[in-house]
Amino acid sequence: MSRARPDTPFRLHLAVGVVLSLVCVLLPVGAGRDALYTAISFGCVAVMVVGVRRHAPLAPGGWWLVTAGIAVWACADLLWAVYTWVLGTSPFPSPADVLYLSSYVLIAAGFWRFVRARGGHGDREGLIDSAIFTVGFVLISWVLLMRPGLEAAGDSTAARVLAAAYPLGDVLLLALLVRLLTTAGARTAAFRWLVAANALLLVADSAYQYTSMTGTYSGGLTSLPWLLGYVAFAAAALHPSMRHLADGGGAEGGTRFTRGRLAALTLASLVSPGTLLLQLAVGAQLEAWAVALSSVVLFLLVVMRMSGLLRHLEGQASRLADLARTDALTGLPNRRTSDAELERLQTRSRAEGSPLCVAVLDLDRFKAFNDTFGHQAGDRLLVQSAQAWRGALEAGGAAAGPDRTALLGRWGGEEFVLLLLGHDLPASVAVVQALAATTPAGQTVSAGVARWDGLESAAEVFGRADAALYAAKTGGRDQVRAAGPAPVAEDGPAVEPVSRG
Ligand code: GH3
Ligand code: MG
Ligand code: MG
Repeated sequence: MSRARPDTPFRLHLAVGVVLSLVCVLLPVGAGRDALYTAISFGCVAVMVVGVRRHAPLAPGGWWLVTAGIAVWACADLLWAVYTWVLGTSPFPSPADVLYLSSYVLIAAGFWRFVRARGGHGDREGLIDSAIFTVGFVLISWVLLMRPGLEAAGDSTAARVLAAAYPLGDVLLLALLVRLLTTAGARTAAFRWLVAANALLLVADSAYQYTSMTGTYSGGLTSLPWLLGYVAFAAAALHPSMRHLADGGGAEGGTRFTRGRLAALTLASLVSPGTLLLQLAVGAQLEAWAVALSSVVLFLLVVMRMSGLLRHLEGQASRLADLARTDALTGLPNRRTSDAELERLQTRSRAEGSPLCVAVLDLDRFKAFNDTFGHQAGDRLLVQSAQAWRGALEAGGAAAGPDRTALLGRWGGEEFVLLLLGHDLPASVAVVQALAATTPAGQTVSAGVARWDGLESAAEVFGRADAALYAAKTGGRDQVRAAGPAPVAEDGPAVEPVSRG
């Protein structure tokens, strides 16, 4: 999608748009200049309509809303020019103000569609991050534009409403702009043009509001970012990559916590104390309430963000721990867990004085099964055997009870281990025989069982169970053997006589 290349109409639009904008701001103030200005506005609206129709984008609603917003904005420019140059009046508040203010809402609604389409609505982190930026921007806007604007407006309600409404419109645009920037999905050329266009509007608006309030507005260059903003909106709509602006980038497109975002968030959360410091440094009137309130909101947002990250981290850690504990195929505890459990049960056995047995179970002639039915069928048999044995343990009551514990684990390959606390050797052999009888598909099992003598190491008791298993295999398979007592001297483990399975 980002490979979509701009074509001739796109380049032509950019060249003509930029040149005309420069010509316009260099013209002397007058009807001619405003006529060109209005022509550029409507020209850009026409280009947007052509772009949206031509590229038939995903989520066209968002594009049409933005186009409508720019169109209404252009109408407001026209109305303004008509009042000034044709009617020779400048009503206040002007109907043009109503149009200007509506276009903020339309553009913001269009951006909101894009955010939703890019999968941003369920993204809590993105929402908090945009809120952090917006609060920082609101404070700056309050200090530089809103409060001085309200003061300058005096007692006129209309003037006060307008002094607050325009900066609030810009807050709305900024909030949606940042929200769009926090979505996943490709940063295509159209995306960047759209972001640049919105940013240009914000710059133009803020510069206009500031200069007209301080009486330094000079027309001329101050209106350049507005014109370039129109050109950029139209460029976004005309660029072929606009088709996929609403594409969230798929499942793995989740927002990432990049260094850039961290830096930007840090700056945004420093706006509050920064404002205070600056006002102290230059001896300006302190905005104690605004700074205090925005600090509170920023702190809460940062803490929310942190708690979200921590929850995310904890969830990941516990999922990782689960993965490390279990065998991926059967879902049984893996060898690492079985080893750890044996040590834990040894401690309990010693403390409670209850018997502890270790059984090793091995599917008979499993290699032949694989060779005959295939590896996947072999996998299924492993899974089904594990399920059947676990079910048999639960049904037989071996796993339940305060004085009884049974733990079945996958030792590796087609070998399983069963740890039984609270069962003596004959009882354990009976449990293993009962399990073996439930093995699916007529598959037979051989097993060796050893009772821990209370002194030997985990490896030693496993070794004896393994030797008993070996005896079961050499004794004809499909049987359970009990290991003999642990040897006193080092002459190898003993195996007790047959105990048929
Ligand atoms: P025995 O009766 O002596 O135990 O014979 P066997 O064929 O079961 O024993 P052997 O150790 O010769 O072969 C074990 C086979 O288990 C070999 C290997 O292909 C198979 N195996 C080990 N792990 C897996 C697994 O995860 N999936 C499948 N399908 N097969 C496995
Ligand atoms: Mg085997
Ligand atoms: Mg084996």
